[in-house]
Amino acid sequence: MSEPPSRIDLAELERPALEALFEARGLDRFRARQLFRWIYRHGVVDLAAMTDLPRDLRAALADEVAVATPHIVERERSSDGTEKLLLRLADGRRIESVFIPDTPSMTFCISTQVGCAMACAFCLTGKMGLVRNLTAGEIAGQVRVLVDAVHIRGKRFNIVLMGMGEPLHNYDETLKALGILADEEGLAVSPRRVTLSTVGLLPALERLAHEPIMPNLAISLHAPTDAIRGELVPINRKYGVADVIAACKRFPLKKRSRITFEYVLLAGVNDSVEDAKRLAKLLAGVKSKVNVIPLNAAAGIPFERPDDDAIDRFAQVLADHHLTVSVRKSRGRDIRAACGQLIVEGERRSSGQQLATLAFGH
Ligand code: SAH
Repeated sequence: MSEPPSRIDLAELERPALEALFEARGLDRFRARQLFRWIYRHGVVDLAAMTDLPRDLRAALADEVAVATPHIVERERSSDGTEKLLLRLADGRRIESVFIPDTPSMTFCISTQVGCAMACAFCLTGKMGLVRNLTAGEIAGQVRVLVDAVHIRGKRFNIVLMGMGEPLHNYDETLKALGILADEEGLAVSPRRVTLSTVGLLPALERLAHEPIMPNLAISLHAPTDAIRGELVPINRKYGVADVIAACKRFPLKKRSRITFEYVLLAGVNDSVEDAKRLAKLLAGVKSKVNVIPLNAAAGIPFERPDDDAIDRFAQVLADHHLTVSVRKSRGRDIRAACGQLIVEGERRSSGQQLATLAFGH
């Protein structure tokens, strides 16, 4: 007995590939463009609803194609308006995506992997390890789903690749997703509205420097020295602070644009005046802005958030050295949607300690 032929997942195709597919079957490219518009511009994946496509074409496609779309399993809304969505993928794996309504514009924080291999010492996703890469369709699919879930179709929004995963560790699918999202026939999210955040995988960063689609760049630095960074961000043992900064200096920036350096502030670890001074020295001559992120503490993370005075003092030293600094307001903390808190509930519940917390806490 033969298996039924597997369907072509249109969610994995960039528009040119969709057009090529249509052409190869003797169909008009224009039809492919219409289909692409339905999926991305209108958020419609049901062929029957694509009313401007000929009925017989829809019938023929119905047996052959699918548009895999992440399914919302759960959503939580924070008192500050931030919303966290738990999404189930075709293979049952789950990821989290976050909508932040006003930062100052609307922002989606999306995932690029299930789990993460980078194992940063203060990050909950890092505790999961890497389960698998997301496909381009799954990365772009989060945006398709979020746009309608929070009712902002047609409005402008930003995207930050700061959810689960390390985008440069899933390079091809991430860049392909950005291409799909940027397509003028679809959601038309300009790369200028996208920020890719990375621990600094240098070979991939060098590759990114030559891409036609160039998102804004954020580097998770977190420490001014190898001694400290090596303890927090394991990959630093391979790509050290000086090399990361040198790569940033070489990175081709558009006019007026700057690289964001993220710095998770950990009490007694990287938050001293001395650390701030060393950071300022390191970034002198780099077109940069610093985003200080006071740790979002959680069970299982062996660090503490500095008190407000220490946070202010750190930021002030940077400002005194003429750096542009912002201190990230923590969003969605009450629903564990804050930075570094994305980890799917199933994994969280699988730990005995967490089970106990849940049992006694509710
Ligand atoms: N892997 C990428 C993107 C995902 S993490 C990267 O590392 O940049 C997005 C940001 O959240 C990173 O700067 C990360 O260091 C930060 N982060 C992780 N855990 C955190 C926590 N517990 N509190 C505050 N920020 C955290």
